[in-house]
Amino acid sequence: MKKRFGINIRTVRDLRIVPVLICVLVLCFGEKTLAEEEMTPQIALTFDDGPHPVYTAQILDGLKERGVKATFFVIGKNIEGNEELLERMHQEGHLIGNHTYSHKKLDCIEKQAAAEELEKTSELVERVTGEGTQFARPPFGVWNKALEYDVTMLPVMWSIDTLDWTTKNVPATVEKVMKQVKDQDIILFHDCYASSAQAALQVVDLLLDQGYEFVTVDQIILAP
Ligand SMILES: [Zn+2]
Repeated sequence: MKKRFGINIRTVRDLRIVPVLICVLVLCFGEKTLAEEEMTPQIALTFDDGPHPVYTAQILDGLKERGVKATFFVIGKNIEGNEELLERMHQEGHLIGNHTYSHKKLDCIEKQAAAEELEKTSELVERVTGEGTQFARPPFGVWNKALEYDVTMLPVMWSIDTLDWTTKNVPATVEKVMKQVKDQDIILFHDCYASSAQAALQVVDLLLDQGYEFVTVDQIILAP
């Protein structure tokens, strides 16, 4: 019994190395955590054409459940009657962007009219949330360069077009993202279809499993 619980000199001497080992482990663990943080891939989900009373609400519920942030490029004329959804976006940490007042192709109308499309929407957003829009997603991806002197909003395009509005097919939309997704991608969805809401939340689940972090689009385009 004595031998079983006894500590011999060699063990005591060996114990002196324990603090050193702890320091080494802490240093290694700390460095690994830092490296892992640097390598966390980021993704920005963007939703155009809302707010929609049913599907935008479904998306907001799903994102809240999962603790995920996204960006909503809203159409000004869709805001009336959906102010609560805008308030939710703002309060729940999403970014609200501008998708013009009436979904006009900005290079096909007068510069002044194009600027008004954006400014009117920004004012409507500000009336609800207290903040105007700083980012714009031009309808059809067509920006009007002349606007850069008239509006202070930055145009934001995308790197993955899900084509959700043409296929309205959940598996096809999910596959379109999953086969090409990479760090820093900006994914284009539309929050006005049931299939898009379902597909977007499935994509969120799959990418969360792969270790992606969801950020608002400003964090990708303004990243150093
Ligand atoms: Zn659109």
